[in-house]
Amino acid sequence: MEFELIDQLKFSAPVAPGILLGIGDDCAILAEDASNERLVTTDMLLDGVHFVYDYDKKNAQSLDLIARKSIAVSVSDIAAMGGEPQAAFLSLAIPRAWSAEQAKELFDSFSKAAAKLNVSLAGGDTTSWEGLLAINVTLLGTVPKSEAIRRSGAQAGDVICVSGPLGGSLAGKHLTFTPRVQQACWLRKHCKLHAMIDISDGLLADLGHILQESGVGAEIFSQQIPITEAAKCIEDSQSPLEHAITDGEDFELLWTMPEAEYQKLIQIQEDFIEVHRIGTITQQTGCFLIDPQGKKERRGNEGYVHQFANHEN
Ligand code: ADP
Ligand code: MG
Repeated sequence: MEFELIDQLKFSAPVAPGILLGIGDDCAILAEDASNERLVTTDMLLDGVHFVYDYDKKNAQSLDLIARKSIAVSVSDIAAMGGEPQAAFLSLAIPRAWSAEQAKELFDSFSKAAAKLNVSLAGGDTTSWEGLLAINVTLLGTVPKSEAIRRSGAQAGDVICVSGPLGGSLAGKHLTFTPRVQQACWLRKHCKLHAMIDISDGLLADLGHILQESGVGAEIFSQQIPITEAAKCIEDSQSPLEHAITDGEDFELLWTMPEAEYQKLIQIQEDFIEVHRIGTITQQTGCFLIDPQGKKERRGNEGYVHQFANHEN
């Protein structure tokens, strides 16, 4: 539902000349100057959905962690284009019941988080209301001209890679992850990447975005998918592999590159870059998961989707 609505906007929005890429990727790309392009992304985070602020402070997700996540998710979108973050605009809807001290703590947390993530707070808006804490961060970044890595460039034969283990982020990683800016910039400079996205909705869902935008399909090999310790420890009806491919908010990079570039990458790769080869882009559309016995299973874009009520009944 969420994605159908976004598609509808995408095809009805007029594109002005300076907008090189509008709706549909991790960031919009705007023309800047002779050497750089401007990246823009925005994300909204809500208490009860993206974080849980514990008013009694018994089991608190601290404001430091909440502020950090709120900026880091946008930094991750800039990384997904191969860019570097610069200026953030922070809009806050603060619960009226908060004390002045709580509000000050929130602002302090944002100052610290921005400094840690190499971002300058350059503006925003502050409101109060009867609802829970709501946060919007709009982040501007920069990328060398024509070098942004889009979701739409994957080609049949490309190797599919991820930058780290996946799944179980609810156990903590969704608050503490490090956006892969350094890795993405290094990859952009040293290798020819065809497509990239950051994994926010889950591996299958975000690979699905690359496949849809590129008009191709994929085969991914279950044995090659790196799985976090957190996903291996979850005791529920889903296997660790299912968690790794469907859980959201890993914020690892997912990219595709020609085989020859992959071979070059593993020769020159530096220690701070994890590269896990998980599959291949195919001409035939659809995403297939292949088990160690070679059995193929067609998979959909399963992952986290924001739902709306059904008012028809
Ligand atoms: P991400 O997970 O990388 O943040 P999203 O799934 O939130 O990306 O959004 C996908 C694309 O749709 C992005 O280009 C985003 O800017 C666009 N988008 C999402 N919601 C809206 C909206 N309400 N109006 C216009 N564009 C939107
Ligand atoms: Mg993204």
